[in-house]
Amino acid sequence: AAGRAALEAYRGKESVTKSGKKIILAANIGCPEDAEAALAADCEGVGLMRSEFLYLGRDSLPTEDELFESYKTVVQAMDGREVIIRTLDIGADKQVGYFDMPPEDNPALGLRAIRLCLTRPILFQTQLCAILRASRYGNVGIMFPMVTGPDELHRLKEALADAEDVLIARGERFGPYRVGVMIETPAAVFMSGELAGEVDFFSIGTNDLTQYLLAMDRQNPNLAPFCDPHHPAVLRAIRQTVERAHQAGCTVGICGELAADEALTEAFLRLGVDELSVAPSRILPLREKIRSLTLG
Ligand code: PEP
Ligand code: MG
Repeated sequence: AAGRAALEAYRGKESVTKSGKKIILAANIGCPEDAEAALAADCEGVGLMRSEFLYLGRDSLPTEDELFESYKTVVQAMDGREVIIRTLDIGADKQVGYFDMPPEDNPALGLRAIRLCLTRPILFQTQLCAILRASRYGNVGIMFPMVTGPDELHRLKEALADAEDVLIARGERFGPYRVGVMIETPAAVFMSGELAGEVDFFSIGTNDLTQYLLAMDRQNPNLAPFCDPHHPAVLRAIRQTVERAHQAGCTVGICGELAADEALTEAFLRLGVDELSVAPSRILPLREKIRSLTLG
């Protein structure tokens, strides 16, 4: 791989192989301040805004206006590039004191992400209204984490429709926007055919997908000798997900750590993955890798 200065040669270039296969190279960000670093790294969009960071490091809930301003800052900074905002993924490894979560024996399998949001409708509606309001300032995708199947998706879409109704009643404008789900539970992989027919995009969360497929805690360092991030089950799950998504006209990104793994870049391109979303510092190195590949 090239050194820092040599990488600069890839700034402003397309993320395309020698044989013309294109892919979107997007950034993973946490807070609005990260948008600057992502742009400085020449991202082609935000593939994952981990919006739980707007709830962490404070002692009370952010208001709808506070959330709206944060999202709007990112959406405007990206100037037409898509910004995929993930709804709250609190729980498991991301705990917030003021949420008063009941103690759980297995937080990674507990009341987290959409499960928490669906049990706290006001919390969820506040966030959805803020995201929808930001959607009129650029190109927004709304993404739901930890989905396991269509029934949950229907409940999530109902909550989204309710948030739209609230904004319409207030006379506020929003949209258009895309809707997507994270594929990060084994159930979502098995249900990907059904899910693909009902959303615009998938984003494969390989951090959780690997943890749940292999039944290995992603935070437990003692498991390192056992955890193979290239486990054939993970790669097979990705392949199945991409095939089913594309059959239904749904786009697919990868936003977990594996997206930046250059040993797999060629495989991802061959599968037809539409977007890789990575830490900003990985964008130019990955573009160099993509532009070095000849496919087909
Ligand atoms: C993932 O699970 O792969 C993911 C991108 O989300 P997080 O790491 O925030 O759980
Ligand atoms: Mg995850």
